[in-house]
Amino acid sequence: MSDIIQLLPDAIANQIAAGEVVQRPASALKELLENAVDAKATQIQVWIKDAGKQLIHVIDNGRGMSATDARMSFERHATSKIRSAQDLFAIRTLGFRGEALASIAAVAQTSKIRSAQDLFAIRTLGFRGEALASIAAVAQVELKTRQENAELGTLLQIEGSEVKKQEPIATAVGTSVAMKNLFFNVPARRNFLKSNPVEMRHIVDEFQRVALSHPEIGFSLVQQDLETYHLLPSKLSHRIVGIFGKSSQNQLVPCEEDTPHLKIKGYVGKPEYAKKTKGEQFFFVNNRYIKSSYLHHAVSTAFEGLIQADQHPFYVLFLEIDPAHIDINVHPTKTEIKFEDERTVYAVLRAAVKQALGAHHVMPALDFSMDVNFQENWTKNPSTALELDREYSYKTYNTPEFQKAAVAGWERLFDGDVPKATTWPNTQVSKEDQEILTFPSRASAEEVLPPSAVEVQEGTGTTFQVELSYIVAQMSTGVLIVDQQLAHERILYERYLKQLQASQGSSQQCLFPSTLTLNPGDFSLVMDMLPELYSLGFQVEEFGKDTIVIQGVPADTQVKNEKELFEGLIEQYKNFKSELSLDKKENLARSLAKRSSLKKGQRLDAREMETLVGQLFACQNPNYSPSGNKTFVKLDLPSIHAFFAK
Ligand code: ADP
Ligand code: MG
Repeated sequence: MSDIIQLLPDAIANQIAAGEVVQRPASALKELLENAVDAKATQIQVWIKDAGKQLIHVIDNGRGMSATDARMSFERHATSKIRSAQDLFAIRTLGFRGEALASIAAVAQTSKIRSAQDLFAIRTLGFRGEALASIAAVAQVELKTRQENAELGTLLQIEGSEVKKQEPIATAVGTSVAMKNLFFNVPARRNFLKSNPVEMRHIVDEFQRVALSHPEIGFSLVQQDLETYHLLPSKLSHRIVGIFGKSSQNQLVPCEEDTPHLKIKGYVGKPEYAKKTKGEQFFFVNNRYIKSSYLHHAVSTAFEGLIQADQHPFYVLFLEIDPAHIDINVHPTKTEIKFEDERTVYAVLRAAVKQALGAHHVMPALDFSMDVNFQENWTKNPSTALELDREYSYKTYNTPEFQKAAVAGWERLFDGDVPKATTWPNTQVSKEDQEILTFPSRASAEEVLPPSAVEVQEGTGTTFQVELSYIVAQMSTGVLIVDQQLAHERILYERYLKQLQASQGSSQQCLFPSTLTLNPGDFSLVMDMLPELYSLGFQVEEFGKDTIVIQGVPADTQVKNEKELFEGLIEQYKNFKSELSLDKKENLARSLAKRSSLKKGQRLDAREMETLVGQLFACQNPNYSPSGNKTFVKLDLPSIHAFFAK
């Protein structure tokens, strides 16, 4: 019997591989965009004809390729991201698919990963080295590329894996890849492509994902000679508005959470911005777009009660997590991911979104009902568990009773210390149980302390001031350091917001009314806000052309000069307006809180410090200042012990 097994010619092997990587025009675009990003481009242009069936052309100003690399880049498993056999074993620890291992091991001519260390920091989008080879197997590709210090660049034409031309060419620094007539040599695949509108939708989706995850890069998209996106390098909020339009501008709520294992950043849409159609939900894990119905569920439940069941909240959320704790490569297109500890990611994400919605008062009250047992998930770092439940437990101080009595928060802080995570039962606890468990102190009792209790209550803990800026307070489980200015901003912000909502600010009469002449723009701004200013306790009236008279200011603002306060308020309001998308009330509350808060450098006596800390922890969201800075840090006993451990 003669032997019948043969090696497949490269062209056919590549075509087969292409089936995985290039399913449709949009998937080719994704690969080309990711390569441009990996090449550190700062400008990326995309030209599309016939929904990508005729042409996908990506031009970047990244680092370009040498003539040899240009040729190599079309080899299968040619990547600049993996170098040696050792690397492969290290990759394995990241959970590569056995299949990829085998194929990569067979060739190993690669460049984005050079050592085992690199692997733990894989930040490039591509690393399998398959994309270009696959694309060239099923299309006619023209590549032009030049490196910065090279006089001439390289032109390369490839059709169905066959190199048709390679020659030096004068071209701009960077890389231009034009992919023409996708599936020209695989008619069956071509026939399976959907209508142009459908394929174009996929293309725009991919474009949006990459553009969202890299607001620092300028992008443009030209469809049939018509530029449909022109996105300048900017920050995320602007990028979102650039992509989703002006209507999204006032709808974004920043969402941020920082735990030792997981950082979350991004924006969620206000509930009223939720839509019946899907498609404006974006998760990026370590800056890579991923799909996850599990995480989507976490966000959706945070919106529960705020949107209808058939609506989808808008979100663009970035999760940063140690790559060692995730497995990116579950799926060849790398859009699925496995977390080592899914349940914690779920809980932190959900809490972060709830907190964001609460912080912006789109939610009447935060109820953090914990449905995940942190203890089990964070066993590697016990102090983290404590940190987490402590942080979240603060967020449950939201009943009006607590807010009336500032002292309640303070008391809670000392004698209501949260039980250690290790004492938590392993079974799930109902919300009620949880609260009792977490707050065994008086603060959970029905009885409300009269406001005067603030005065009586003295010396609950030892407090002192550092640098006339920070309040140091002792707790039974450690030490608390509070930023007096940021804490006060948080307190005032919540107070003002409440007054604005209830239109019931109280006012203190100025001794001498003062007049203030404004420029016409500011004057009309003030006229436009009169009702809100009254709600806050300002007594302001029109007093001739572009002039107002100030007769009263909000009670308990510590100001010597009303004029200055008012001018500062307007200035701050305008600043926030240009930077952030806040609604009028929120902006006013934030601006006034910032302007009238006590500042660093102000001496406080013990009682003032205690009141301040008490009021802070009676806030709905004591953890952060309105602009998102931490208001306090906690040094708990384990970390203090750790300082001195041998
Ligand atoms: P991978 O991105 O997984 O490494 P690709 O097939 O997408 O594999 O690309 C192969 C190699 O070609 C990359 O590792 C990179 O070195 C080089 N390359 C591809 N596109 C570009 C580009 N736009 N600019 C610079 N180098 C590129
Ligand atoms: Mg790539």
